[in-house]
Amino acid sequence: MAAHTHYLWFETRKRQEIIDITDQVAAQVRASGIREGFVLVSAMHISASVFVNDHESGLWKDILKWLDGTIAPWDPARYRHNETGEDNAAAHLWSLTIGHEVIVPITEGNLDFGPWQRIFYGEWDGQRRKRVIVKVLGER
Ligand code: ZN
Repeated sequence: MAAHTHYLWFETRKRQEIIDITDQVAAQVRASGIREGFVLVSAMHISASVFVNDHESGLWKDILKWLDGTIAPWDPARYRHNETGEDNAAAHLWSLTIGHEVIVPITEGNLDFGPWQRIFYGEWDGQRRKRVIVKVLGER
């Protein structure tokens, strides 16, 4: 089995941001030379997510509104975690809700997606350097 590991770095301008990383992941699959296998894409942080969904800006706003409005409002006074002096408890809960990693199949050297599927980095507590691991595993 062959393996190829790469790190994507992010420092978002806004504290919350959704970024399409499909092309960057596909570039690593090409660089790996792996034809059949999987790529694991995983946020290396506890206040961020990696997920598969639609490249549609209205939906990104819906996701952020759903997380902040329904899942866990960004209200530091609500959370025990923030008694430590932090203010990002909501970001941890959003990461748990959306998940921190995805696995995408590789077939004949390409990401084997259904229609409309794309890979996203969800930054829930940004404006600092954070990273995502891309690990391609399989046969060349
Ligand atoms: Zn925290």
